[in-house]
Amino acid sequence: MARVVVVGGGYGGMASAARLAKLGHAVTLLEQGPALGGALGRVVRDEFAWDTGATATLLPAVARDLFRKSGRPLERELELVHRDVVREHWFADGTRLMLPGSSREAQLHAVDALGPGLGEAWLAHVAAYADDWEMLRREYLERPWDPDVISTETRKRVLTRESLHRRLRRALPDARLRQVAAHPLEAEGHVLRQVPAWAGVTAYLEQRFGVWTIPAEAGGMAALGTALAARLTTRKVEVRTGVAVRDVVVREGRAVAVATDDGEVDADVVVCAIDPRRLPALAAHVRRTLPTMPAVAVHLGVEGDVPDLGPETVVHGDADFTVTTGGLAPAGAHAWTVRGRGRLHEDVVDALARTGLDVRKQVVRRVDDSPRDQVERWGGSPWGVLWQGRATVTERLGPRTPVPGVYAAGASATPGAGLPYVGLSAALVAQVVGPA
Ligand SMILES: Cc1cc2nc3c(=O)[nH]c(=O)nc-3n(C[C@H](O)[C@H](O)[C@H](O)COP(=O)(O)OP(=O)(O)OC[C@H]3O[C@@H](n4cnc5c(N)ncnc54)[C@H](O)[C@@H]3O)c2cc1C
Repeated sequence: MARVVVVGGGYGGMASAARLAKLGHAVTLLEQGPALGGALGRVVRDEFAWDTGATATLLPAVARDLFRKSGRPLERELELVHRDVVREHWFADGTRLMLPGSSREAQLHAVDALGPGLGEAWLAHVAAYADDWEMLRREYLERPWDPDVISTETRKRVLTRESLHRRLRRALPDARLRQVAAHPLEAEGHVLRQVPAWAGVTAYLEQRFGVWTIPAEAGGMAALGTALAARLTTRKVEVRTGVAVRDVVVREGRAVAVATDDGEVDADVVVCAIDPRRLPALAAHVRRTLPTMPAVAVHLGVEGDVPDLGPETVVHGDADFTVTTGGLAPAGAHAWTVRGRGRLHEDVVDALARTGLDVRKQVVRRVDDSPRDQVERWGGSPWGVLWQGRATVTERLGPRTPVPGVYAAGASATPGAGLPYVGLSAALVAQVVGPA
């Protein structure tokens, strides 16, 4: 049995801790903040509540696998609900697209309404990711990445020089469809020319497996964090909140402890589930990586005459706004979150009003959450490492790191940010650490 110390109590840290405890290790989880969850959290004002981070997830199978492998199945803890609509896009020319999930046929009809033939072009673009997905799943997402043993075919695909920018220009004849395909990556703060083409696989996952969420009345996506925190208690993980880890202590070439303001905590195995640039022993190995910048966010309580928006609406323009509507609100009111990216020279709600979505007079509650607030609160960006071309694949740590005894999980580790990938990173760490 190894003494495992997990650094960071977000989804990545909690998932790693639950899996390793189930494998028989003695696990301690250290979280700098007052509570677990990281970006899986909730902000509450009076009768309003909003998710602070994730509002939905792709690939619910990843969360299901985590709960099943660490105890009671997820279905016994909470219900992930399928969302019929992936999102609605409002384009600058006044046209709109309601993109349905989990159905080729429904996407064909919806996209064709933008222009004849566009539906077929969209389906062909998405279908081209089927092979990428199979390869990624088998050799990158579910197996520890090792550039030395990977097959030539996978190596070529994962380390492709083709950028998503180039792929979209080649595959999609319509600028609006390119915006739709680019959105998931741009919303995370990436620049398409720096993103490998296969990262566009999100469009395939949305079409094939759909988007899933936890309704606000059931606690919102934060409930997933709460359920996982409860799982840590069941698995007898020692959780210490209010403890910031400053570094990994390395003696005779391997990790033996982590350093905190209150002294060292001994460890045979350390799992770094935070931005490794925060820990000097690891920082030297990720010097060339950059973090993504979270979007400007504002949580709004609105009431009165407001447009009836779906769960997620993207308004494209000089800046792009993503409006999610699934928060908890009293009768007659709505809880929206507006996230803005791009050329934003004024208040987000004013800038949104210029696009025609003007709710300024209907706002009854408002909570601002700037990129700086988010990074300070979570000790880094929950969107992980910025794509800087294909080199990012190998420069990102995880599941192993160059420091013996230290493993990396979470948004800044392989295979990246977003709940499914963060969940997979924890599974990869559990795989390489192995049973006690
Ligand atoms: C606004 C927003 C919207 C999002 N929407 C979605 C979505 O709809 N779907 C989706 O799948 N994903 C979404 N994501 C991404 C997803 O939420 C994250 O990728 C995921 O939650 C990251 O989990 P994590 O554990 O890696 O990091 P975090 O959640 O950032 O957790 C890191 C934890 O480590 C702690 N910590 C930091 N430094 C230290 C230290 N030195 N010592 C001890 N503890 C430390 C922090 O306090 C924090 O609790 C969103 C993210 C954001 C910010």
